[in-house]
Amino acid sequence: MALTGIQIFKLLPKTNCGECGVPTCLAFAMNLAAGKAELASCPYISAESKAQLSEASAPPIRPIAVGTGDNVVKIGGETVLFRHEKTFVNKPGLAIMISDAIPADEVAERIKRFNLLKYDWIGLVLRPEMIAVKNDSGDANKFAALVKKVMDETDAALILMSGSAEALKAALQVSAQRVPLIYAAMDENADAMIALAMEYKCPLTAKADNMDSLTALTDKISAGGVKDIVLDSGARTVRRVFEDQVFIRRAALFQKNRSLGFPTIAFPCEMTKDPMKETMIASVLVAKYAGIIVLSDFQGESLFPLLVARLNIYTDPQRPMMMKEGIYPVGNPTEDSPVMITTNFALTYFIVSGEIEGSRVPSWLLVMDTEGLSVLTAWAAGKFVGDAIGQFIKKSGIAEKVKHRKIVIPGFVAAVSGDLEEELGSTWEVKIGPREAAHLAPFLKQGL
Ligand code: SF4
Repeated sequence: MALTGIQIFKLLPKTNCGECGVPTCLAFAMNLAAGKAELASCPYISAESKAQLSEASAPPIRPIAVGTGDNVVKIGGETVLFRHEKTFVNKPGLAIMISDAIPADEVAERIKRFNLLKYDWIGLVLRPEMIAVKNDSGDANKFAALVKKVMDETDAALILMSGSAEALKAALQVSAQRVPLIYAAMDENADAMIALAMEYKCPLTAKADNMDSLTALTDKISAGGVKDIVLDSGARTVRRVFEDQVFIRRAALFQKNRSLGFPTIAFPCEMTKDPMKETMIASVLVAKYAGIIVLSDFQGESLFPLLVARLNIYTDPQRPMMMKEGIYPVGNPTEDSPVMITTNFALTYFIVSGEIEGSRVPSWLLVMDTEGLSVLTAWAAGKFVGDAIGQFIKKSGIAEKVKHRKIVIPGFVAAVSGDLEEELGSTWEVKIGPREAAHLAPFLKQGL
C-alpha cells in the first residue's frame, strides 16, 4: 500500500535544507505522495528510508515493457485520469490477432499488412507495434512454429495466447529473447503460468471474470515473484470493458490500490464481428485507458484513424509538436531556388512543405524556432517579428546556399516586412507570400 505524506515525512531527514526544490521536508513529502516529486531529488535520505519510500514514489500504475529493441512497447506509468490534468505517458500498443488455426496464406497476408501499414505523419512514423499469436489449434508445435515465423518476419512485440502451459513453453523457447507478454494466468493455471513468467523473465497477463478475483489473482502472481503484470478483467462487451477500465484506473490512482496498479489489455476483436464497430470500440479504449488493444485484423481505412487518434491523445498538451530550427530543402533546390520562411510548429511546417512539394518548384524553407507556435500566434506573441526573423536569417547560413537575396514571408505577417528589411539591410528584398499555404503553388510558379 502506498504511504501517506505524513508517513513519508517521518522517514525524511527533517532538516528543511531546501535542496530538493521545496522549502521544507514536509512539502517534499506531500509532493512525493502526490507523485509530483522524485525520490532522487533529496540527496540526504538514508538507504533504509529509501527502500521503504520506493513504493511510495513508484507510479500508481506500474510501467511495463513488452518486446525489445526499437519496437519495444511501453505501457502503464500513467498518473492522471484525464489528459488535460498533466499528460498521458505511454500510448497503448495496437495488436493484430493471428491464430495458428487460420490458413497459411491468411497468416502471410496478416504479416504482410502488419509490415506494410506504416504512415509518415508530421515527421513521425505511425504504425501498429504488436502481434497476438493465438494457440487455437491445441498443437504446441504448430503454435511455436507460428511464433517463430512471426518473429522471423516482423519486429513485432509479441503476445503469446494459450491456455496450455506446455504450448506457451514451446513458444517461449523460440521467442523469450523478444520478451513477449504471456497470456494468460487464470485461477486454474496460475501456478504454471507464474513458473513460466519467472523462468523466461516475461510479463504475465492476469485474467479473471470480476475485480475481486482479479485482485486476488494479481496478489498471488506478485507473491510468486512476477512483478510485470497486465490485467484482463474478462470484459467482452463495450459497456463492461469501459466500466472496468475506468474502475481500474481510478482504483490505482485514487485508492492507491497496488493490486490493480497495472496496465490493461482489451480485446475489441472478441466484442463484435463488425470491423467498423470493432474500430470504434478500439477508439474508446485508446482514450479510456487500455494498455494494449487487440484487433482481429488491420485494414488501412480503420487502422490509420486509430493511429492518429492515439497520437493526438498521447501527445503532451502542454508541449506543441515542434520542428528543429534550420534550413529544409524541399525538392532539390539550387542556388537560384526561392527561399521561404515559416515557424517551427510541426503542423505548419508539414502543410507548407507539402504545398511547396506539390508545386514542383524546388525551394529552401527556413524554419525558425518560435517555441512551436504557428505563424499568427508567434507574431502576436512577438516571436515572429521583423528583427527576430532578420537575425535568424543572418545566422541561418542561407546566404551561402543561394546567390540571390530574396526572402518570402507568410502573407499573414506582411506587416513585419519593414522591420525585416531594416534588420537585413538593403541587400535583401522581402517578398510577401500568400496568406494560405494552399496558394503557394501558383505563387511559386509565377516566379519571384
Ligand atoms: S532535500 Fe531532503 S532534507 Fe532537504 S528539504 Fe528536501 S527533503 Fe528535506
